Amino acid sequence: MTEPKHLFIPGPTNIPDRVRRAMNLAMEDIRAPDFPELTKPLFRDLKTLFKSETGEIFLFPSSGTGAWEAALTNTLSPGDRVIVASFGQFSMLWAKMCRDLGFETEEWEIPWGETFPLERLEERLAQPDAAGIKAVLVCQNETATGVASDVAGVRRILDAADHPALLMVDGISSIACIEFRMDEWGVDLAIAGSQKGLMLPTGLSVVCASRKALAASETAQCRRSYFDFAWHAGANKDGYFPYTPATQLLRGLRVSLDILAEEGIENVWARHNRLAEGVRRAVRAWGLETCAARPEIASDTVTAVVVPEGIDSADIVRTAYHRYNTSFGVGLSKVAGRVFRIGHLGALDEVKILSGIAAAEIALCDCGVNLQAGSGVGAAIDYYRETAPAALAAAAE
Ligand SMILES: *Cc1c(COP(=O)(O)O)cnc(C)c1O
Repeated sequence: MTEPKHLFIPGPTNIPDRVRRAMNLAMEDIRAPDFPELTKPLFRDLKTLFKSETGEIFLFPSSGTGAWEAALTNTLSPGDRVIVASFGQFSMLWAKMCRDLGFETEEWEIPWGETFPLERLEERLAQPDAAGIKAVLVCQNETATGVASDVAGVRRILDAADHPALLMVDGISSIACIEFRMDEWGVDLAIAGSQKGLMLPTGLSVVCASRKALAASETAQCRRSYFDFAWHAGANKDGYFPYTPATQLLRGLRVSLDILAEEGIENVWARHNRLAEGVRRAVRAWGLETCAARPEIASDTVTAVVVPEGIDSADIVRTAYHRYNTSFGVGLSKVAGRVFRIGHLGALDEVKILSGIAAAEIALCDCGVNLQAGSGVGAAIDYYRETAPAALAAAAE
């Protein structure tokens, strides 16, 4: 009946109407003299979004995974030692990519539900062979488990050890949703993808590279071509690309950046935090737990809900899909069957997320989870009412 389905997966996310309409246009000349009037401000405004003044933006017609490869191959050489903490499907796949590309990969297997282990990094950097570590890879928001990492904390530890490793951050499900400060946190390579916080279709990825990363790219020996920074930089400086850019996505990006700027990025972060907290309260009211082991590390963009023993989380996802036209994320890999995921990132407000909480609740009831109907929705409503932004509350009087 309902078309399209209600989408509460952690990417692709809902696309605002304004963005969708901006992409519905005729093909245009990618070498037109006025094409840079579109592209140059995109580079500028993406830098602002990443909170970087000194970094350089690269835009690729790929999904986020391509930007992982771009960051690695442009700045490292085969055999380089990299550290990657793996605590969910995405950080685990990034580690696999490091092995595929021929890096000496120290994959730290962390229990799923936990976060990047700062103490372990501190200890590792104190070891005699630590000088050989060329990069530390951090997944800021592990989308499989709903866990966030402390990127600023990683920078503090690198600085305290006076260690020159590049800090690479997968921000695909966090940038444009939760706090991210490229320059202040000394991030060397920050990665975003279009279909999450940027509220666009899949197909654009973004890398912001620090001066240090750009310097590393001059001597890095990894083979690269499609994603080569130098090739892109040469064309980008005049507002063009080395090969055909995805023009409709760029037109959509223009509007999504405008929407984020109109709200103000700090307000966007606050909104994600507030909507996420409502979801967490709902989960608690259902008597269930999140996959995130502790409240301090819970992600503001996705919540992985652990289902009771004897229940298959895939059933809940299927029930929501078939009976209620609603998509939730399934449990991936190690947590398949044990968790389902509620995505709460991108173009959402209280009413939309409450409908997602309601859909989860009704599907949980249908699948035999023993909970009081309305308990989760009620807990979220109470929280949203208590924390209604003051200006909105005043306008409603
Ligand atoms: C979605 C996601 C990816 C993969 O991005 P694709 O666009 O699917 O290639 C990588 N890392 C994280 C944290 C993600 O959420």
